[in-house]
Amino acid sequence: MLGQMMTAPLTISSLVDHAARYHGDTEIVSVQTAGGVETTSWRDVGANAHRLGDALTKLGLEPQARCGTIAWNNRRHLEIYFGVSGAGFVCHTINPRLFPEQLVYIINHADDQVLFIDKTFVPLIAAIRDKCPNLKYIVLMEGHDDEAAAAIEGLQFYDDLIATGDADFAWPDLDENTASSLCYTSGTTGNPKGVLYSHRSTVLHSLVAALPDSLDLSATKRVLPVVPMFHVNAWGTPYACAMTGASMVLPGPGLDGASLVKLIDSYKVSVALGVPTIWLGLVNEALKSGSKLETLERTVIGGSACPPSMITAFRENFGVETIHAWGMTEMSPLGSVNQLLAKHDQLSDEARYKMRENQGRPPFGVELKIVDEEGKTLPNDGKTQGDLHVRGHWILDSYFRKSTEETLTNGWFDTGDVATLDADGYLSIKDRSKDIIKSGGEWISSVDLENIAIAHPKLADAAVIGARHEKWDERPVLVAVKAEGQDPSEAEILAIFEDKIAKWQIPDRVVFTDVLPRNATGKVLKRNLREEFGEVLMG
Ligand code: ADP
Repeated sequence: MLGQMMTAPLTISSLVDHAARYHGDTEIVSVQTAGGVETTSWRDVGANAHRLGDALTKLGLEPQARCGTIAWNNRRHLEIYFGVSGAGFVCHTINPRLFPEQLVYIINHADDQVLFIDKTFVPLIAAIRDKCPNLKYIVLMEGHDDEAAAAIEGLQFYDDLIATGDADFAWPDLDENTASSLCYTSGTTGNPKGVLYSHRSTVLHSLVAALPDSLDLSATKRVLPVVPMFHVNAWGTPYACAMTGASMVLPGPGLDGASLVKLIDSYKVSVALGVPTIWLGLVNEALKSGSKLETLERTVIGGSACPPSMITAFRENFGVETIHAWGMTEMSPLGSVNQLLAKHDQLSDEARYKMRENQGRPPFGVELKIVDEEGKTLPNDGKTQGDLHVRGHWILDSYFRKSTEETLTNGWFDTGDVATLDADGYLSIKDRSKDIIKSGGEWISSVDLENIAIAHPKLADAAVIGARHEKWDERPVLVAVKAEGQDPSEAEILAIFEDKIAKWQIPDRVVFTDVLPRNATGKVLKRNLREEFGEVLMG
């Protein structure tokens, strides 16, 4: 017997329609690429999404045609998210920080038919356009612009394009499992791989992301996604904000500390989301400028391990709560969020603060397990480390143009992370499995060592690698960047590890460098560091 309830497909268009209808006046603040700030509303974003969907349909694109974007977080990008997917096409966000060859690979692998670009990226696209023969339309996300038109033959203009569409355009009926959007992983090893989200996975992810024990979004919040819209759909915030009717502040190209502090204070941001490196700049700038970040209630930090010292800095200087979250492109991205349970009320402040440092627990819809090399499930005792496997409603089944067999292991996705899980499901990420340091049969977590090192006031940045060692195979070496105006000795730096970890885990050496190499999503390129410093312990 079937239940006798109405069913309607879970579609992305229903999110923006809800926001436009029931939160129509709620503001969307957007920093424009050319400078200046414009304020629109969910009503206007919704209307333009319909116009764009109609305009693209009139171009005669095939259903599920891929429409790429190379753009900052701004109002037009938000409209594209909803207009492209709503009309049954696939919104393919592309990271402009990739090498040009990788961009070409991704555009061709995705078979993008349309490419929406911000003006910043005109020279980049002009240089690679000839290598992307299937691109039919390149659309500048502005009004008419002579300079850009001269650089790219046949360039179209967003404002002109949507003027050909109707705000009353009726979205097509879509199966909720239809592909909606596409993101590629940054591909630090091998070619980037595509993850093809569906309407259903996106809507379910939004429902859970908005929950109080997840990101706690609501119509009373003003949300600043500093995480780029080209990085796992800005962690799904555009969709979850539309669902809850939250106001958004879209920061455009200026992601430096000063610009962000100004935005937070001027537009009364309550929740901001981003990777740790971004917040380093923000905290320093806010301290320098004397801003108290008065309206900011919460920062959501993920993408790489959030150093405990950053959580403390936000709490003690600004009264801002930090929510540490973990996920990946393959998981839409939400895999776990650090929030406390009722029983933790009894703990001392200090013990509670300590609890907030790990990557948190999986929400409904995600299952986590750790396994050994043979795939045997390991205990959730908070101590045993293993390979982290996941499954759930918004986790990929197969990479784009690959099979499930090539992607999953016995129905689970191997994250490539090494972690511990405790009895309540709290996750602690120890390392990427390729970066963990194997010292004489014992494993040492580079993340644990980095978290300690980065708190040293004389360091600006730190990474730990396994360097080759004659006796122990590998030993930890700390690659450190000195803070401005500081000149610490190696011994001074190593002293910070004493009493914090077992003696045998303390790095053998500290080497100083000017800047750490990072990939397009801001993660330290350990492979490059190993190439440079991997032999420093050998004779
Ligand atoms: P990429 O495109 O670089 O793969 P992802 O954002 O998909 O970008 O990267 C996912 C990986 O980032 C995770 O598997 C994990 O190793 C790391 N990561 C993400 N969030 C955290 C976190 N909070 N703590 C530690 N590592 C994290």
